Amino acid sequence: MKTDFDVIVIGAGPAGSIASARLHKEGFNVFVIEKLEFPRFVIGESLLPHCMDHLDELDLLDCVVAKKFQLKTGVTFDHNDERCQFLFSNKFSEGWDYTYQVKRADFDHALIQEVERKGVKVEFNAEVTDVVTTKDVQTITYLNKAGETKVVTARFIIDASGYGRVLPRLFDLDKPAPSSPRGAVFSHVKDENRTDKAAENIFVHDFNDNTAWIWAIPFSDKTASVGVVGNVDLVNDFAEGNGEKFQEFIRNFPGITSRFKDTEFLFEPRTILNYSVSIKQFYGEGFILCGNSTEFLDPVFSSGVTLAMSSGHQAAKLVCEHLKGNQVDWDKDYVEHMNFGINVFRTYVNSWYNGDLQTIFFTKQDNTEIKKQICSVLAGYVWDTNNPFVKKHATMVSTLAKVIRINENQTNIVE
Ligand SMILES: Cc1cc2nc3c(=O)[nH]c(=O)nc-3n(C[C@H](O)[C@H](O)[C@H](O)COP(=O)(O)OP(=O)(O)OC[C@H]3O[C@@H](n4cnc5c(N)ncnc54)[C@H](O)[C@@H]3O)c2cc1C
Repeated sequence: MKTDFDVIVIGAGPAGSIASARLHKEGFNVFVIEKLEFPRFVIGESLLPHCMDHLDELDLLDCVVAKKFQLKTGVTFDHNDERCQFLFSNKFSEGWDYTYQVKRADFDHALIQEVERKGVKVEFNAEVTDVVTTKDVQTITYLNKAGETKVVTARFIIDASGYGRVLPRLFDLDKPAPSSPRGAVFSHVKDENRTDKAAENIFVHDFNDNTAWIWAIPFSDKTASVGVVGNVDLVNDFAEGNGEKFQEFIRNFPGITSRFKDTEFLFEPRTILNYSVSIKQFYGEGFILCGNSTEFLDPVFSSGVTLAMSSGHQAAKLVCEHLKGNQVDWDKDYVEHMNFGINVFRTYVNSWYNGDLQTIFFTKQDNTEIKKQICSVLAGYVWDTNNPFVKKHATMVSTLAKVIRINENQTNIVE
C-alpha cells in the first residue's frame, strides 16, 4: 500500500537529526515532525568525542564547525581538594580527541537546518498526538501550527521525541528507571575569569559523600552552563526562592571559586526532576525508539547526546535494511547493541555514586595505562571491546577499586 512517506521521525533533537540524515543519505523519503519552534532550549550541553564519528559520517560536521562552538578536549573531576584530569588525546581507543560544548538551542538548530537543506521535509510547531502502527502502514496524527489536525502515513516510524516520550506514553512502554530518583538545578552564567585552557574542559566536582555534584560547561561566548545534581530534596532546597542557595553555591564553586565569585546569572535557575527513564521495549511492529525516548541514565558523564546520536544512527541503519526488504535482527543488532553501550555507562554511573570511581580517579598509585582505558569510556567509545574497561566493565571497575583500597590500607598500616 502506498504511504505519504517512507519514514516519519518524531522529534528534531540530535537523535532525530542523525536518524533522518542517515535515512535521507540512503535515498528514503523522510518527514520530521517537531513539536516546538527551533531554536529551543534543552539541557545537555557537553558532547563526547564519539559524537564526531556520527556527524562526520553523515556530512553534518561542517555545519557544526561553522558555529565556532567551544572546543572540548577533556574532563576535569574534583573531589575534596584533589583534581583528576582526563585529556581525550590520552585515550586508549582510536577516535576523535576533541569535541564541543554547545548551547543546544544553536547546536540542534544547526543540525536540523542542515538536514532540511539536504532535502528532508521538516515541520516545526507540529505536535504528534496519536499513532497507529500495523505491519506495513503507520498512521500519525499531529496538530500543526495553525491548530489543524493532520494525518500522515509512513512505512516506518522512528520515535526520537526525547523527554516527550511519545510512543512510550501512547503505547504504555514506560518502565521505572533502576537508578535513584535525582534532579538538577541549573542556569547559564557569565564566565569571563576562566583561562582558555580551562574553557576546554567540563568541570565536575562531587560533594555530600558522592551523592551530589556540580558542573561547569564553558561556552565559546564566555558564558557557561552551571548546575547541581543531587537527590530531589537537595535540588528542591537549592532551587527555593529563585534558586538563592544554588546561586550562592555557584559563586563559591568548590575548586574554582575565583571563576564565578561575582558572576551574573543569565536566567533564573530552572529545575528538572526524576529525569532517569527506561522502557519495556525498544521496537515493535512498524516503529523503533531512539535517544532519550528509550533510556536516560544520568548526566554525570555527558553521555546523553552521544547515546542519542548512536541510537538514532543505528536505528536508521536497520530501518533502511528493513525497507530494502532485507532481514533485520532487531534484538541482536539494536536492543543488545544499544544495551551494551548503555550498560557500560551504567557501570560508570553506579561506580560514581558508590565511590569506586573516585577511589580510582584520585588514588596516588600509578595507573596511567588504566586511565587511558577509562578515558576512552569518558570519550564515548563504549563499544570498543578491545578495551578491557569496556569489555568487562563491571568487574574491571569494582575489582580495581577494591585492589586500590587494599593497597592504600596496607600502605597506611606500614606508615
Ligand atoms: C540535568 C541534565 C544534564 C544533562 N547534561 C548533558 C550533557 O552535558 N551532555 C549530554 O550529552 N547530555 C546531557 N543530558 C542529556 C541530554 O539532555 C539528552 O540525552 C539529549 O537531549 C537527548 O537527545 P534526543 O534527541 O533524544 O531528545 P531531545 O533533545 O529532547 O529532542 C527531542 C525532540 O522531540 C520533540 N518532541 C517531544 N514531543 C513531541 C511530540 N509530541 N511531537 C513532536 N515532537 C516532539 C521535542 O520538542 C524535542 O525537540 C543531560 C540531561 C539532564 C537531565
